Amino acid sequence: MAISRPKGTNDIFGTNAALWQYIEARIRHTCKLFGVGELRTPIFEYAELFKQSVGETTDIVSKEMYQFTDQGGREYVLKPEGTAAAVRAYLENKMNTQPSPVKAYYISPIFRAERPQKGRYRQHHQFGAEYFGSYHPAADAELISLAHTFLTGLGITDFTLRLNSIGDADCRKAYNTALLDYLRSHESGLCELCRERIAKNPMRVLDCKNEGCKKISADAPLPLDHISEEAMTHFTQLQSYLAALGIDFIVDKRIVRGLDYYTRTVFEFTSNNLGSQDTVCGGGRYDYLIERNGGQPTGAVGFGMGIERLLIILDEQGKLPNVDNSPQVFVGHMGSDGATKAIEIVKKLRLAGVSAITDLADRNIKSQLKYADKIGAKFSLVIGETELESGKVNLKNMQSGESIEITLDKIEENNIWKI
Ligand code: ATP
Ligand code: MG
Repeated sequence: MAISRPKGTNDIFGTNAALWQYIEARIRHTCKLFGVGELRTPIFEYAELFKQSVGETTDIVSKEMYQFTDQGGREYVLKPEGTAAAVRAYLENKMNTQPSPVKAYYISPIFRAERPQKGRYRQHHQFGAEYFGSYHPAADAELISLAHTFLTGLGITDFTLRLNSIGDADCRKAYNTALLDYLRSHESGLCELCRERIAKNPMRVLDCKNEGCKKISADAPLPLDHISEEAMTHFTQLQSYLAALGIDFIVDKRIVRGLDYYTRTVFEFTSNNLGSQDTVCGGGRYDYLIERNGGQPTGAVGFGMGIERLLIILDEQGKLPNVDNSPQVFVGHMGSDGATKAIEIVKKLRLAGVSAITDLADRNIKSQLKYADKIGAKFSLVIGETELESGKVNLKNMQSGESIEITLDKIEENNIWKI
């Protein structure tokens, strides 16, 4: 019986896999330019890590985690986001003793039990980056610049950077009072979950997707109007750094982000090519998260970018690169001596760094060459009795049809492979 893959997941193969490799190579290249090293964390973590970090009243923790209990009764989740895991690894591996700031990036599968649709999957992949150890807005600016450099480096131009500040713990107290007053006077129009949120975490109401709640939150007081002078100075300085970097942005007071750990800076990169799932990258500052996980007070800022959504944008904007995965040469053969010589030759060519393919199914030469054509081999050659006797072979350029004669001896050293 055929069994399908789980709903909301994707298989990545063929040309599409080559495209993913290209994106991943661009990520690694850009991070290297910014002095950001890679961090790989497990695909599952203790459930408690995300409850404590992301917050019990968030959509991610309350509805979207893939949670399971193992044979020993331990509660795990498939990683629903990258930052909490990065913070755990930072502390557990004492990275705080390394020169500060510690800058790390990851490329990781992320799991969320959501209703699958375009740009929304149960397993997606994120490129994320985290800067640990600076409270200064220069860190926010550089981190945003990393995401921006990566996006523009892919040729994506049509996106909007939306920036906001939601203040810190002190600002939040004053803001929560104003927000609570407002929400209480509109309580009857809120969904059940939001009525619970009023008591536990009123700001979460602002990112509820329920239509009634959206209407009410449209006129709600907003965090940016209630932040302290210090937080405002931080925000203004960040804006002037971005201006100096030539990075366009708009201040969008409605951006609060769906995770509890954010403080001060929050931002999103949105695109018109994504339909209702319009955010390709989201991030912000999380100055209390390291302390909440048992570390010393440490300023930090990070982002997560959805790679599937990135590929949708590239596709819609006609910016998908031509990834060439085809082999350089197909080595065809006739007769059993020809077959033996062919496997010797492909071995030599591969050792010399030339991608070389031969027939493995004892097909006739016509079928072999059809196969070579289908897999897009750039050159082909055929080894039969004549070639074995003369030690020479015709190398055919599969596109132009032109042939040149080359020797079989030291074939791997021929300059033709360097073109
Ligand atoms: P959304 O509002 O679309 O649900 P989010 O706020 O939950 O996004 P984050 O937690 O900030 O998203 O994740 C960072 C990025 O990861 C998003 O901007 C998006 O590009 C991508 N992403 C998040 N959830 C999914 C998903 N279910 N499928 C595909 N990509 C996703
Ligand atoms: Mg979400």
